[in-house]
Amino acid sequence: MTTAQTPQLDVQPSPLALLLLGRGADPRSERGVECPGDLPDPSDPDLVARARAAKEKLGSKVFVLGHHYQRDEVIQFADVTGDSFKLARDAAARPDAEYIVFCGVHFMAESADILTTDDQKVVLPDLAAGCSMADMATAEQVAECWDVLTEAGVAEQVVPVSYMNSSADIKAFTGKHGGTICTSSNAERALEWAFQQGEKVLFLPDQHLGRNTAVRDMGMSLEDCVLYNPHKPNGGLTAEQLRDAKMILWRGHCSVHGRFSLESVEDVRERVPGVNVLVHPECRHEVVAAADYVGSTEYIIKTLEAAPAGSKWAIGTELNLVRRLANRFAPEGKEIVFLDKTVCFCSTMNRIDLPHLVWTLESLAEGTLVNRIEVDPETEAFAKLALERMLALP
Ligand code: SF4
Repeated sequence: MTTAQTPQLDVQPSPLALLLLGRGADPRSERGVECPGDLPDPSDPDLVARARAAKEKLGSKVFVLGHHYQRDEVIQFADVTGDSFKLARDAAARPDAEYIVFCGVHFMAESADILTTDDQKVVLPDLAAGCSMADMATAEQVAECWDVLTEAGVAEQVVPVSYMNSSADIKAFTGKHGGTICTSSNAERALEWAFQQGEKVLFLPDQHLGRNTAVRDMGMSLEDCVLYNPHKPNGGLTAEQLRDAKMILWRGHCSVHGRFSLESVEDVRERVPGVNVLVHPECRHEVVAAADYVGSTEYIIKTLEAAPAGSKWAIGTELNLVRRLANRFAPEGKEIVFLDKTVCFCSTMNRIDLPHLVWTLESLAEGTLVNRIEVDPETEAFAKLALERMLALP
């Protein structure tokens, strides 16, 4: 387990306006719900001290996880930082912590609940912190898709592979139908495994990660891939197209990484001569094809750690992380710029701010459990099956 503590930065909340997300509960999706409780005022100058005091009072009872895309004001209180899968595993390795406070988005907290013990309570500081990509595949839509595949006579040849960035329902569907979960680090291994079990893969919910892995890493052609659109009858595909395809890609994408374009790459190469373009595989295929390096968040961080002084990098991933990396590596003489000229935060990740974290920690310190994320036992059992298949990948 990574135990490195994130240094406390004394960062106060930023004035960034938050996007208003959906209101009202929708337990089968990542859609936002209202956050109960009275939040501290964002302008309270004592927020950092209050968060620190509440965390100290909770001691080893609380373990705070911080996703790489979180704001500085929040990440300074993380006991450990990482991507979604690493954080879920870190949580599972701390069975003594009664409360796991997940500073990330809803599907991540669900995965942490699935991988931790029944006694541990996973808490999401703002219930409206969902994920637009995970929301693009609902349980009903995916069940309907399976009916379409069955009608076309291909379901028996199909193995589902679902990206970590999906709801617990979709992970459970995957487990039930003999499939596995993947991350952006092991998608190729997951697909290789799946093609040993069947002839076709249904890749959920990120079309770009599925296409990039199949075409860029595994040598398939773009014609081997078809796009299933859940908003069209039969996914917008004929039975013949489904029979001919190797990869059936779900029509989902990340609203952050999907913003990078081929023009962003061409433009940065002109602006910064000699720049290395390094992007996440959730970016569109043409962006990935034009980049110099492609990999997960952890890969991006490791690549920059190993980069020589004087090198120049344009990074295509979430802005909070890119800004932090630019500051971290500037003293080493590494120039890091954001791939796109327009600001590109993940708005749902940004829902978790210092007032929500203070409210959560103070509530827990007073003995009030708030915003618990709990996956029902049947969903958990099948989702765990899919996650365990991933852990067993060679
Ligand atoms: S960066 Fe994209 S995939 Fe990650 S939480 Fe935000 S919308 Fe979802």
